[in-house]
Amino acid sequence: MRNQGLIFAIGDCAAIPDGPDNTVPATASYAMRQGSHIAETLLAEIGGRAPQSYEPLHLGELVSLGPNYAIGNPLGVPLFGYPALAMKKGVEQYYRATIEG
Ligand SMILES: Cc1cc2nc3c(=O)[nH]c(=O)nc-3n(C[C@H](O)[C@H](O)[C@H](O)COP(=O)(O)OP(=O)(O)OC[C@H]3O[C@@H](n4cnc5c(N)ncnc54)[C@H](O)[C@@H]3O)c2cc1C
Repeated sequence: MRNQGLIFAIGDCAAIPDGPDNTVPATASYAMRQGSHIAETLLAEIGGRAPQSYEPLHLGELVSLGPNYAIGNPLGVPLFGYPALAMKKGVEQYYRATIEG
């Protein structure tokens, strides 16, 4: 929706531009950071401050390929097999702890 200053869309339901030709990936890590950003935006709105623009933070991807293997490029570093799997599980635990406390 255009010209609707107080309607926000984030996460998988939003096509958030990332440069001229791309949109931000539909993954949980982006959705969570967008959630934090929208919370700060709403607080700024309530407090009468100017909102900050959203800048996607690219931390890389980690993908499970079955129970014993994963691949990824966390922080741009190529990773395969058990090291990637261990990191993927660690990231999952981190986000779970962030959500569930
Ligand atoms: C099989 C699968 C595996 C994935 N694996 C990964 C992964 O390993 N890593 C990763 O980063 N991302 C992964 N993703 C993507 C990740 O799940 C999504 O990017 C993330 O959940 C998006 O968060 P969101 O809050 O935008 O949407 P959602 O998590 O989908 O939350 C939307 C919520 O809105 C609710 N809802 C919908 N309609 C209504 C309504 N009308 N009224 C009220 N509530 C409503 C839904 O029930 C849901 O709870 C995976 C996705 C799938 C499907």
